Amino acid sequence: MSNSTKYVFVTGGVTSSLGKGIISASLAKLLQARGYSVTIQKLDPYINVDPGTLNPYEHGECFVTDDGAETDLDLGHYERFLNVPTSQGNNVTTGRIYQSVIEKERKGEFLGKTVQVIPHITDEIKERIQILGKEGKYDIVITEIGGTVGDIESLPYVEAVRQLLWEFENDCIVIHLTLVPYLAAAGELKTKPTQHSVKQLLELGVQPDILCCRTEHELDLTLRKKIAKFCNVSMNAVIESRDAETIYDVPLLMQAEELDKVVLEKLGLSSKSTPDLSNWKNFIDRLKNPKAEVNIGLVGKYVELKDAYKSISEAFIHAGAANHARVNVKWIHSEKLTKANIEDELGGLDGILVAPGFGSRGISGKIEAVRFARENKVPFFGICLGMQCAVIEYARHVLGYEDAHTTEIAEDCKYPVISMMEEQKNISNMGGTMRLGAYKCQLKPGSKVSNAYNTDKISERHRHRYEFNNDYLKDFEAAGMIPTGKNPETGLVEVVEIPEHPWFVGAQFHPEYKSTVANPHPLFVAFVQAAIENKKKK
Ligand code: GLN
Repeated sequence: MSNSTKYVFVTGGVTSSLGKGIISASLAKLLQARGYSVTIQKLDPYINVDPGTLNPYEHGECFVTDDGAETDLDLGHYERFLNVPTSQGNNVTTGRIYQSVIEKERKGEFLGKTVQVIPHITDEIKERIQILGKEGKYDIVITEIGGTVGDIESLPYVEAVRQLLWEFENDCIVIHLTLVPYLAAAGELKTKPTQHSVKQLLELGVQPDILCCRTEHELDLTLRKKIAKFCNVSMNAVIESRDAETIYDVPLLMQAEELDKVVLEKLGLSSKSTPDLSNWKNFIDRLKNPKAEVNIGLVGKYVELKDAYKSISEAFIHAGAANHARVNVKWIHSEKLTKANIEDELGGLDGILVAPGFGSRGISGKIEAVRFARENKVPFFGICLGMQCAVIEYARHVLGYEDAHTTEIAEDCKYPVISMMEEQKNISNMGGTMRLGAYKCQLKPGSKVSNAYNTDKISERHRHRYEFNNDYLKDFEAAGMIPTGKNPETGLVEVVEIPEHPWFVGAQFHPEYKSTVANPHPLFVAFVQAAIENKKKK
């Protein structure tokens, strides 16, 4: 059977956290740079329908797509590398697969048959894998299978891959990511875990075509030969994947190993074109040779787990490079911030970002951080809950509404300056029910935001239930906090600014989701620029 779309499956063995997402994104970048249209999909073997209901401590950031899917943070890497938006179809979990099979069963679609893992669950997985291919937009779909081969949860996925390899013959390949550990006592790299991991895949009927070996040291010719021989792959398909200084180096490291060439050859596609990576190389050059340096505080409650703010920290890397500056992010625990220690914690910073979040933990520290930034004229950027904290802080300390709060935390407060959106009031299900995905926003001409974007019409992604309460709009405007971005259809306030302040912007949406290497986000670029200027003044 021939297919117009080719499929690359990426599996992982030996251990988790080998960086399948970065390898997939890097390969996709290299193929894209040769003129192929590529997308990447992540299959997650856990039973949650999506990561939207998962605590960030469990799973890191929840990445939101334009079409409102709450997804795995790897999709953020895919977008940052490829500069192409992902969608609902790019992330599928076991929960979603079972939900859909069970719904079909309830509708009687299986005509009285016993519903089983094989074929019903595996068929559903196969269908989800092919959804993106069938859109007709992509030459190549890279599907990353989450988890580690051998896990009970990933068995149906590996079985689905086995069946597709059989059905599509020359249109599918498997890249297996493994670890080649260095044993200090022996002074050697060891290939046995890789051999075992490939054996495990073979037991499931899958022969990998390419092995990507994570290693801290060089894989010499002898080792490559050994791996090739024991694992039935050609020598050029043993790819060394050394630890990199930054994830953005990985496409170039993979290019040096000719991963893209081997993939194209094995898929029967032409590898004659020369990849154009000049923009990527320029970015890396700016990243590695900064002319300035700024310290920006990121105030949040999940700072022990930096993955919880992945898109924000990557957006700073892009914006830093755009400004030829290194951005040092100082992670500040909002729960530990008090009026008494605020000067010690935040004094000396060139800019302050208050992060998104949910619930009451750490909220008073976030409000204190806003106050510090506002009063000391430190560039301030509030995102989602961070913007809501800026509104609360302004109400309390400038408008004199002492009891001002968000109804998320104080339902009966006297001044609910942030309150639940009307359409949210009758919702009781937690999963996928927030205001999610891209909405249009109209910016006020001449504002800091419209200057940063260089346009007054934008679209940004959202993930929240609460909003600026328009009953207080006039009070805020009169006191100097101006809504400079509004939803053109509903009038919801999406951006607030204090024009008096050097750079004080609160955004109800999440700009970080749209920052990519090719398109650093304008608000992050402007914020970093303001921080650089603030530093110069000191
Ligand atoms: N908890 C707030 C809300 O639901 C903010 C959400 C966020 O920061 N993503 O509106």
